[in-house]
Amino acid sequence: MSIRELYHERTSPFISLEFFPPKTELGTRNLMERMHRMTALDPLFITVTWGAGGTTAEKTLALASMAQQTLNIPVCMHLTCTNTDKIIIDDALNRCYNAGIKNILALRGDPPIGEDWLDSQSNESPFKYAVDLVRYIKQSYGNKFCVGVAAYPEGHCEGEAEGNEQDPLKDMVYLKEKVNAGADFVITQLFYDVEKFLSFESLFREQISQDLPLFPGLMPINSYLLFHRAAKLSHASIPPSILNRFPPEIHSDDNAVKSIGVDILIEIIQEIYQRTSGRIKGFHFYTLNLEKAIAQIVSQSSALSHIINESSEEEGEDETGGEI
Ligand code: FAD
Repeated sequence: MSIRELYHERTSPFISLEFFPPKTELGTRNLMERMHRMTALDPLFITVTWGAGGTTAEKTLALASMAQQTLNIPVCMHLTCTNTDKIIIDDALNRCYNAGIKNILALRGDPPIGEDWLDSQSNESPFKYAVDLVRYIKQSYGNKFCVGVAAYPEGHCEGEAEGNEQDPLKDMVYLKEKVNAGADFVITQLFYDVEKFLSFESLFREQISQDLPLFPGLMPINSYLLFHRAAKLSHASIPPSILNRFPPEIHSDDNAVKSIGVDILIEIIQEIYQRTSGRIKGFHFYTLNLEKAIAQIVSQSSALSHIINESSEEEGEDETGGEI
């Protein structure tokens, strides 16, 4: 079923979950078990990432198909469009459709680390920006797919090397293009600054849509080092009020960091849910293929605690139980 339809059916707040394809078969088996346990958190949908430049295409398709066929939860596969062609895109979409995957997150993508092909792309390429992929899917496949797109509450980081600053207002024009091209839902980049998300949400409601599903992207804090690395890579600012909650003496204590992180994420969810008067009711987690912090956040958050999660909390203790 399409994410857009499911979204409008739910009346109480819910979550969705992003996973990435593991490198090994053992990792995939372990992740499938973890995903099965996490179905107890009743996610509206799960997403599976597409490695930069299509580097994980086969593994992404395999994991997304397996999840769609065994989890009884709609799967949304990410698909990037630059440095590729229609044959590859059609092959991926047809394989998704045949596997029962009806939701696609249409992205432009970035070059893999160390490569830089964005500037050298041929003008002949049918896909320069994500909007080109949205248009292509909608025009070629009609309503076969429900299509999501990405958004950046603090602005996309393009051109920083040339001195361009992140600017959510500039991106809003292009986000509107993606929605006008047929995007059915929007998932944001991760952020920790609630004020920045809330002002983005107001702009989005004013300039783009009052009721299009908009999912804030949230990444649990599993270790101090990873927290900083993920925020830096995603160009997400960390407000001092959050940074100050991690005194230097606990930086290497993952359990202490995780526990403060759970409190922070619960507060972020609560603040967003209340201050948008429930307009934001779906919270998308970048899981990093981990479950424990998310199970704790869901079970302890007053906005989400209606979700039955006891079983996942018990089983979710073992993060190191298998290679992923
Ligand atoms: P676009 O919407 O095309 O925007 C890219 C840039 O171009 C922006 O700066 C925008 O302002 C600008 N722009 C857009 N249209 C125009 C135009 N017509 N003229 C001029 N400028 C324009 N990457 C992966 O490789 N795999 C993944 O699985 C993946 N999943 C993601 C999931 C989410 C929720 C998010 C937020 C990002 C994800 N990414 C992923 C990263 C994403 O590919 C990069 O952030 C990429 O740089 C931009 O992708 P986009 O789809 O937002 O691009």
